[in-house]
Amino acid sequence: MPRPIEALIHRSALANNLARARAAAPDSRLWAVVKANAYGHGIERVYEPLRGADGFALLDLAEAERVRALGWRGPVLLLEGCFEPRDLELCSRLGLWHVVHNELQIDWLAAHKTNTPQRVFLKLNSGMNRLGFRPDAYRAAWARLQALHQVGEVSLMTHYADADGLANSWRARGQHALFEQASEGLDGERSLANSAATLRFGAHVPVGLDPFADGGLPVMHGDWVRAGILLYGSAPDFPECDIERWQLRPAMTLRSRIIATQQLQPGDTVGYGSTYTAQQPMRIGIVACGYADGYPRHAGTDTPVLVDGVRTGTVGRVSMDMLAVDLEPVPDAGIGSEVTLWGHGRGGSRLAIDDVAHAAGTIGYELMCALAARVPVTVTD
Ligand SMILES: *Cc1c(COP(=O)(O)O)cnc(C)c1O
Repeated sequence: MPRPIEALIHRSALANNLARARAAAPDSRLWAVVKANAYGHGIERVYEPLRGADGFALLDLAEAERVRALGWRGPVLLLEGCFEPRDLELCSRLGLWHVVHNELQIDWLAAHKTNTPQRVFLKLNSGMNRLGFRPDAYRAAWARLQALHQVGEVSLMTHYADADGLANSWRARGQHALFEQASEGLDGERSLANSAATLRFGAHVPVGLDPFADGGLPVMHGDWVRAGILLYGSAPDFPECDIERWQLRPAMTLRSRIIATQQLQPGDTVGYGSTYTAQQPMRIGIVACGYADGYPRHAGTDTPVLVDGVRTGTVGRVSMDMLAVDLEPVPDAGIGSEVTLWGHGRGGSRLAIDDVAHAAGTIGYELMCALAARVPVTVTD
């Protein structure tokens, strides 16, 4: 028997989450963001349930080729644009749309030999200070692109730095105002919102969630929203909101089994560094899952986990191939019992990846992207 760890990718959850994104942004078209191999889920595995999107957005040219190889003829957007001039040839060949965020990329376009004008998304730096033209340079960049025969339609985009929390949402509003000002009067479709902005400034947002949300602010979305994390069933604004609140479902389950149990006496310790000491007699289970599977090593004692569908916690340090869990709440559990590290468990139970990430001082994004190659993956409904 192979080591009992496995990951499941849930098609119905992906379809549900896509429908949630549509409901939040009913007037926009929707990019399904599938960068980082679909946030660790696998582009080929998520393609069917997500093909109801209007386009696929990603960064890596090899990933764009994979989306085309799946038969997708619709829009594909390179979110960081081209990395060198010859990437433009691939854009021409595969019909990729690409972000233009600096002058050099415009120079490359101007020197590119093509008869097919390319569609570009001109990026404004609205405060994130990673990619994009500053507001005072935006118009000139737009005019330069418009004048090139290599360029067809020019669309406009920005990326909010602060759409994911109540405390900073006034900043996101400011970033939007900056975009409105910089792009005023410029022709072209707009793409503004990531998952957080799609949900929090979306239709049907409960009043009170955001001081500015007077029943939804779809103006923060633009013509195209860019939904990533929400599609995979993680709340972009956890712990302020969780997947229950947004009606999202985990698209990935990581599960394994108990391969040993230990009966501890008071004073017994668990794992490397003996960081956990039993205060009373207790039974623990040893799970075939460790940091070499993608489970976060920084998850301390009491990180939530499901054993046979019952919520309990980890005990002591996570090691490379194993971790320990408290079996006191699950007296019937033993060798072979099912352990859900995140996702769906027995009897309809669920453990959000956000709960695990939070306990380990990180975010759901990082955990799903870090699923290790040694974990076998199965697609299911
Ligand atoms: C990754 C990315 C997104 C998606 O962000 P989520 O928070 O996962 O929804 C949107 N836009 C750009 C430019 C990105 O790089």
